[in-house]
Amino acid sequence: MMREEYVFSKLSPIAKRTTANIIRELLKSTSIPGMISFGGGVPDPETFPKEIMADIAKEIVEKEYKFTLQYSTTEGDPILRGEYIKFLEKYYDIKNLDLDNVLITSGSQQALDLVGRVFLDEESICAIGTPVYLGAASAFKVRAPKFITMDMQADGPNIDILEEALENMTEEEKSRFKFIYIVSNFDNPTGLTLSLEKRQRILDLAYNNDLIIIEDDPYGALRYEGEIIPTIYQLAENREKYELNPVILLNTFSKILSPGLRMGVVIGDKTIIRRLVMGKQAADLCTSPLTQRLTARYLERNDPMVQIKPTLELYSQKRNAMMESFDKYMKEIDGVTWTFPHGGLFSWVTLPEEIDTMDMLELAKENKIVYIPGVAFSVNEETAKKTSRCMRVSFCLPSCEEIEEGTKRLVKTIKEYRDKKRG
Ligand SMILES: *Cc1c(COP(=O)(O)O)cnc(C)c1O
Repeated sequence: MMREEYVFSKLSPIAKRTTANIIRELLKSTSIPGMISFGGGVPDPETFPKEIMADIAKEIVEKEYKFTLQYSTTEGDPILRGEYIKFLEKYYDIKNLDLDNVLITSGSQQALDLVGRVFLDEESICAIGTPVYLGAASAFKVRAPKFITMDMQADGPNIDILEEALENMTEEEKSRFKFIYIVSNFDNPTGLTLSLEKRQRILDLAYNNDLIIIEDDPYGALRYEGEIIPTIYQLAENREKYELNPVILLNTFSKILSPGLRMGVVIGDKTIIRRLVMGKQAADLCTSPLTQRLTARYLERNDPMVQIKPTLELYSQKRNAMMESFDKYMKEIDGVTWTFPHGGLFSWVTLPEEIDTMDMLELAKENKIVYIPGVAFSVNEETAKKTSRCMRVSFCLPSCEEIEEGTKRLVKTIKEYRDKKRG
């Protein structure tokens, strides 16, 4: 037997279903000189508070080594959880949280993986958007559940699709329906935000049908304009008549402080958190106490919301630069539309039907511009078809000048590709 076949024959069904992260593969080309990347969704490293972190790191290794260099509990550093509870009270008006409502994970990605492990199998049903965050799609897809996919609209996913699906379900099917996954603010990849009205509607649906809501909110703090909308978690807290808050809120320090910390925070009902803790025990025993305490001491002495202000200013200028360039140059393409994000890092571009953004990528690379093809955010053939003419573009890494130049290159690429296809 060939080596590949031999290894494959030993794999579990879950490993056989696991594929490489397409974005990570695609972004390998971004280091080519002169390339402008609209692909990356990672923060600018110059925004990391490296001096403050270096000082804290030295101090906690020298003085707190009994904690930082030792194994810790699966639930996470109590000091970090305490600090995070204060942070949520101050900025999100989320009150009455105990340490038992909070779980620290190795990034939100681990939380998504745990959600997959704890709730999903081949018989399960869950609802997601089209397009959907790639990290969530990969964590859920390996469990092979049935997906209900809701098309994205300007104010969040089309809830009518979910309502209709629920109406047509038998009681037995409903009992296998586990959760709705949603990125409530400045969604990855669409940049769109779930309206207050839809947040309430989703919550009603969850209560009426005994569903859990996975609310993934890595970008809530990255708002450039408009009023803050309460999280679905918070809306549920405000409804007194129910016993259990069905929302699991996923937060992370990746987009407001540093992704290298791998610091995610899960907020939820104690009983749910307990189950996730059991899943995490098997995965990694505990998140690194060293980076947890580093984050805790950072939070104690600094206000991330204040620290992030210059970053927000920078990102919002870049967002403006991209939207202005799109207004100026993209209009030359008939039938193109794009989203205008009020925060976060992304806009979602929808091109005429004849364009396949995955197929076009090679030409784009020749023109020294990259983006993420829409199919990266699909879970099956049907959703791949819907997203194949779309792309995710990010404005966080290139400079304003590069954003304008990159837009010109993108428009040139689309025209060349279209003309070649038309023959
Ligand atoms: C970036 C991102 C995360 C965060 O992942 P980490 O593992 O915490 O770095 C989670 N969800 C979405 C939608 C994201 O874009």
